[in-house]
Amino acid sequence: MALGPPPVDDAEVTPAFPRFVHETLPQRVSFAAGEAADAVSEEVRRLGGSRVMAIATDADRAEPVLAGVPVAVLHTDVVRHVPVEVAERARAAAREYDADVVVSVGGGSTTGLAKAVALTSGLPIVAVPTTYAGSEATDVWGLTESGRKTTGVDRRVLPRAVVYDASLMLGLPVATSVASGLNALAHCVDAMWGPRADPIDQALALEGIRALNAGLPRIVAGPREVGGREQTLYGAYLSAVAFASAGSGLHHKICHVLGGMFDLPHAETHAVVLPYVLALNAPAVPDLDARMAAAFGTHTALAGLQRLRGEVDAPRSLRDLGLAERDLDRAVGPILEAAPPSNPVPVTAEEVEALLHAAYEGREPA
Ligand code: NAD
Repeated sequence: MALGPPPVDDAEVTPAFPRFVHETLPQRVSFAAGEAADAVSEEVRRLGGSRVMAIATDADRAEPVLAGVPVAVLHTDVVRHVPVEVAERARAAAREYDADVVVSVGGGSTTGLAKAVALTSGLPIVAVPTTYAGSEATDVWGLTESGRKTTGVDRRVLPRAVVYDASLMLGLPVATSVASGLNALAHCVDAMWGPRADPIDQALALEGIRALNAGLPRIVAGPREVGGREQTLYGAYLSAVAFASAGSGLHHKICHVLGGMFDLPHAETHAVVLPYVLALNAPAVPDLDARMAAAFGTHTALAGLQRLRGEVDAPRSLRDLGLAERDLDRAVGPILEAAPPSNPVPVTAEEVEALLHAAYEGREPA
């Protein structure tokens, strides 16, 4: 019998997608509301850990989570944006206590410090996130030195396991929850058109938008309801997976420049800037706009985002975050340098300037 490819002359050969490669990051993820201690102890056991370095901002929040784990040291010296000297102290503690597994319990700053330890030691991380930042699902690390933020990608910093326990977040203040959830939503939006965005990233991002759009108003209505917290965590996880694969789009580049230059609060900066980037990009990609709009249940993605922002009383302006208007123009050059060439619309200095001034004032995005 003759072998070989089937005849193609009568086949329809137009593919559904341009050629793409999607890489899935290897990680175990548990959703375990109210059962973090059990799940963390199982993950540490699977990793063969007998001397755990626990990293947390808040010992009281972390201790119940660590109940079933052999803790060699609980390290609480966590500072936002991971200054290098803070990273060095944590690395020294890991060596001093001969740690074999790192367990982080906290927001993006805490996960970030665990990643700094893993980057140089190769120690495996079990991450227990307590905000919606999503760092736990990415292989991106960040450090700051003399006010300059450096980021990099390294497989060693990807947590081997993540334990999501929504009950740990019942005390996260509503305003912080809203900003953090909108940071997650920004991961979804950027994942639609990031430099490596593919159809799988987009599917994850759209489900992330749907979950965050439903979960955040539930948190505002009932901050101590586990269901709304867990729905938001689910959306935050999807957003981070999509974002890690798609890479930073224009929105993240803008926020990265602003955050690094002016030491602005991370989540709030994302929450303020997102509608302006959406207003700039979405009209150029009507198909993506329509799919995001469907996830929001509105006519356009911007209408959906603005409705959600109104419902949850989102942070409005860069002015409210303490930025001075005279500083805005200094950010334009670095943003233009960082803007991805694949952005749906070419980005000009005038557009960036207009975007920053509108975000500064909290004007309705055009
Ligand atoms: P954060 O970790 O600094 O936490 C914000 C505040 O919330 C802190 O004061 C913290 O103590 C408090 N908090 C955290 N959990 C709490 C809880 N359950 N109850 C009460 N208070 C709680 O901020 P963040 O927004 O989570 O993370 C921001 C950092 O994460 C930035 O440095 C950012 O660059 C980084 N990040 C990295 C990635 C990545 O992929 N590498 C992704 C997203 C964010």
